[in-house]
Amino acid sequence: MTNIIHRNLRQSPPVAVSASGMIVRDQRCNSYIDASGGAAVSSLGHGHPDILEAMHRQIDINAYAHTAFFTTEVAEELAARLVAGAPEGLTEAYFVSGGSEAMETAMKLARQYFVESGEPQRTKFIARRQSYHGNTLGALAVGGNEWRRRQFAPLLIDVPRVAPCYEYRDRMEGQTQADYTASLLRELEAKIVETGPENVIGFCAEPVVGATGGAIPPTRGYFQGVRALCDKYGVLFIADEVMCGMGRTGTMYSISQDGVAPDIITIGKGLGAGYQPIGGVLAQGRLVDRLRQGSGMFQHGHTYIGHPVAAAAALAVQKVIERDGLLAQVRTRGETFMGMLRNAFGRHPHVGDIRGRGLLLALELVEDRETKQPFAPERKLHAAVKACAMANGLMVYPMGGTIDGQNGDHILLAPPFIASDADLSEIVSRLVESVDGALRQSSP
Ligand code: PLP
Repeated sequence: MTNIIHRNLRQSPPVAVSASGMIVRDQRCNSYIDASGGAAVSSLGHGHPDILEAMHRQIDINAYAHTAFFTTEVAEELAARLVAGAPEGLTEAYFVSGGSEAMETAMKLARQYFVESGEPQRTKFIARRQSYHGNTLGALAVGGNEWRRRQFAPLLIDVPRVAPCYEYRDRMEGQTQADYTASLLRELEAKIVETGPENVIGFCAEPVVGATGGAIPPTRGYFQGVRALCDKYGVLFIADEVMCGMGRTGTMYSISQDGVAPDIITIGKGLGAGYQPIGGVLAQGRLVDRLRQGSGMFQHGHTYIGHPVAAAAALAVQKVIERDGLLAQVRTRGETFMGMLRNAFGRHPHVGDIRGRGLLLALELVEDRETKQPFAPERKLHAAVKACAMANGLMVYPMGGTIDGQNGDHILLAPPFIASDADLSEIVSRLVESVDGALRQSSP
């Protein structure tokens, strides 16, 4: 009996009753190793004492202050820290309650920037076919998955799309990586020109594709090429780091590894690490300065923006990452984890690709390794993997139908940064059982 509209309307999920470190426990005393951090959220694991203490302290000091009246020291300190570590020029921060709100905020900020720059005809965003930017109507419109958008069409905005940077599937036999990258950039340029550069606000992309593709890092030079094209046509580059940001790939911002400063970065998930719902937008100073010197207002806002307890949790997360050297740990554990996955699955007949960056890794499952033929979508292999993994006490984040419902199944792994080598080894052995179990159970 439930009064909650659960994701699966035919089946209630287990009840999470407690969690600590790498483990979540349910009402039947089952425990699960959290190998996905929920959905790449719980970067510090569960019940971290420093984060709990910071939240308690903030609740005692001041649990809420509406931003129509006040700012708070804790939100100011968080903003200062985040911009200090951000790529060059990103000096402004805005806090919301999650990733979708962050994308909505980024899109409105970008639009208002052009309106106040005397270019109100710029109304278009260009995005990639393989992308997820959130579930609110604006963010959904930008996201690539046709199956997510279908039932809600027509959406508020119509978004021209280009190919993702998906080397495993799209780089042709004999084509060098550089040629493949150049072809993607030619396509993006053609799309900007076709849309009319004077009509385009921005290009949105995840620096490492998360849920819709399974930890797909860009090819070398791809984002430098994107940056150059955006500069050439006066288009803003909006990097959605909701999943891949906040240390998940071994640097605070994943795009730093690509040597590029976007105009706007969105963050979420690991920002609050699951302790509080918080997302954010970082923007180049010149964008906000335009509004400052123009109307003097950003026409936006929500009841819970800059929430002090959420800011306190996020600030404590930042401090723990720095104090405990967790970015370096993500890089070394990421390599260890990748090595373990390659050992376990490198010759598996149904694992076509093992990829990722830092501790954002994934397996792509295929019917045939040679042809890369995906499993039939009706088989719902990803759902079977999730069920088997839960039965084996393992939380992973599998997904299917990643491009227009066509592109097979992958399993996303995003363990907390605190995972030990022993934890990672246990995850891999349970994952082997889960993948093989799912293949057996879902065989036609
Ligand atoms: N952007 C990316 C890249 C995401 O992965 C997600 C969530 O998975 C979002 C945006 C939306 O974030 P939220 O679910 O917090 O609204």
